Amino acid sequence: MKITQVDVIVAKCKTNVTISPWKPVVCRVYTDEGIYGDGEAAVAYETGSLAAFSMIKELAPMIIGKDPLNTEAIWDMMYRNTFWCQNGGPMTFSGMSAIDMALWDIKGKYFNAPLYQLLGGKVREDLRCYASQLQLTGWRKYTDNWEILQEPQEYFDATKRAIEDGYDCVKIDFLCGNYRDEPFTKENRTGLLPAAELHFVEERIAAAREAAGPDVDIIMENHCWLDAQSSVQMGHLAEKYNIFCFEEGPTPSPKMVKYVSDRIKVPQASGERIYSRWQYAPYFEDGSLQMIQPDAGNCGGISEFKKICDMAHAYDISVQAHVCATPLSADVAMHLECSIPNFQIHEHHICHESNRNLEMSIYNNLPVNGRCKPSDRPGIGNEIHPRLWKENLGFASVK
Ligand code: MG
Repeated sequence: MKITQVDVIVAKCKTNVTISPWKPVVCRVYTDEGIYGDGEAAVAYETGSLAAFSMIKELAPMIIGKDPLNTEAIWDMMYRNTFWCQNGGPMTFSGMSAIDMALWDIKGKYFNAPLYQLLGGKVREDLRCYASQLQLTGWRKYTDNWEILQEPQEYFDATKRAIEDGYDCVKIDFLCGNYRDEPFTKENRTGLLPAAELHFVEERIAAAREAAGPDVDIIMENHCWLDAQSSVQMGHLAEKYNIFCFEEGPTPSPKMVKYVSDRIKVPQASGERIYSRWQYAPYFEDGSLQMIQPDAGNCGGISEFKKICDMAHAYDISVQAHVCATPLSADVAMHLECSIPNFQIHEHHICHESNRNLEMSIYNNLPVNGRCKPSDRPGIGNEIHPRLWKENLGFASVK
């Protein structure tokens, strides 16, 4: 079997979205045996879609004529023979990830097996999920334009709604929206936070904990908006409210993450901005992360995700795949999480329930009662919606 063509698009939403651009980048790899596979560069939001699109376009000629089943050889070729991919960042690795993902999809279809079978089979039947980013919409379904929560009562209500939907874990960014009447700024999130601001934030945390009760877990999201000093302060609040883990406080620099881990008792999580096994290694060696959150769409693909997780396992570090892209990426995460021994919990992002995302694929595999499982169809078991090949913000075909 030989690769004959790679198509790549920047997807266009049909749904009108007025906040946070949503421009998923997906590719389809074709073969001379009529089998094709889909992959995604997980940079669907904020800045970078066009760069990832170009990255796939530039990598594509290297794989034309190659056997798509040789995923290791192709990965290594992309890493070694491109000069800038070695120790690269999100744009190089998201391009490699999309291609690697599409090749694994082809492999699954070729062997008529779901992806989880190719990865070693199921370690568990289904996955515990958490309701992610409650602060964006208050966990109201089908919301395409966010209304960020403000009042503590709203945090209480959102947590209750997620629990009613069957979740026993939620994730919230408590430094989102407005501080008093103005949006949080960099100054509000870095350095030593004043007592009045910490009190303001604590009221929101306390409201979520009150709604959650003692038996529902809360993950504290920080989106790397903090620095090391404010992370320690927020980490101490997290300790007070028995937070399950403290996610992405400081920028992912091994020294800063270690600085925070030496000063707080809550487990730390990070990963969506850490790429490849080489960039993960320092966090494993110094024990500063207790849960990692690699994204198969930007850490180097399915091949690299598996290696990172296996390395983490040697240090008793657990895994939650980062997912905030199309349903194709959510499906890939489910296959991977079902087949690794050190799985912790699956992220079900509020965006997965929005029309702008549901319209992107032919299937939508959503959690039921706070649990989900991968598809039993061959390969990833999903594909990009046919509309997107005709209506998009950018298209390239490399033969
Ligand atoms: Mg996050």
